[in-house]
Amino acid sequence: MPRKYVIGGNWKCNGTVAQVSDLVSTLNKAGDFPSNAEVVIAPTFLHVPMVKDAVRSDVNVSLQNCSVDSFGAYTGEIAPEMIADFGLKWVITGHSERRTGFGGQAGETSEIVAKKTKKAIEAGLTVIACVGESLDEREAGNTLKVVLEEHLAAIADALSQEQWAKVVVAYEPVWAIGTGKTASPEQAQDVHASIRSWLSDKVSPEVAEATRIIYGGSVKGSNAGTLADCADIDGFLVGGASLKPEFIDIINAVE
Ligand code: PGA
Repeated sequence: MPRKYVIGGNWKCNGTVAQVSDLVSTLNKAGDFPSNAEVVIAPTFLHVPMVKDAVRSDVNVSLQNCSVDSFGAYTGEIAPEMIADFGLKWVITGHSERRTGFGGQAGETSEIVAKKTKKAIEAGLTVIACVGESLDEREAGNTLKVVLEEHLAAIADALSQEQWAKVVVAYEPVWAIGTGKTASPEQAQDVHASIRSWLSDKVSPEVAEATRIIYGGSVKGSNAGTLADCADIDGFLVGGASLKPEFIDIINAVE
C-alpha cells in the first residue's frame, strides 16, 4: 500500500487569538485537500482548544510537546494521557528547538525524547518524532551518526516493533530550520533513504516500508513539489510557512 503523505504545520510559539482564527479560516476555506494527504497542525497548548473546535474535520490537531510523565505534580506539563483524553491523536516529540534548549533551559536528551515518544504511543497518540543534525555535525561528516545512531537508535531502543505503526519520523536538519536554506532534494532524499534502510536493518523491512519519513526545514510552496517527488520523502513538517496561506500550496503540492 502506498504511504499517505503527512503535512504538518508546527506553529511553534506564534499567534494571537485573531491570527489563529484567521489561520483556521484559511484552512477551512481551502477546498478539498489531496486524498493522499494527511494534514496535521500544531498550535500552542493555549490555542489548541479553540483550533480543535473550529477547524475542519479533516485537519488533525497536534500538540508540540508532551510530558515524559503521566498525571501528577509536574507544574506546567501536559501528560500524554491528557492529550488523548481531550480527544486529540497527535503529538510532536524531539523538535530540535526542544533538544537544544532555549531561554537558559536545558535541552532534552535523546533518551528523554525516546521516553516521551513511547509514553505518547502508550497513551494512544501518533507521534511525529523529530531527528536531525546541526551544521557543525554535518560539516564534520557526522550527519548519519547523529540521525541514525543517536536520535533514531534511542527511539528504536524504546519501542516495540508494533509501536512503529504510530510513528512518523521527521528529518529536520537544524541548519535548514527557519533559515530559508532548504536541504536540496538530493540532500534530503539521501538522508531519508538512509533512515529507511536503517529501519529495515534495525527494526524490520515491513516497518521501514510503512513508516512515513517527512522532511522539515524551510519548506515553501515553491519547493514542496520537488521534495515530495523524492522516493523516500513522505511529506513535511513546516514551521514558518505554516503560518501563511502558503501552507495550502504545500498541502496541495503532494497531489
Ligand atoms: P521552518 O521550521 O519551516 O520555519 O524552517 C520547520 C520546523 O521547525 O519544524
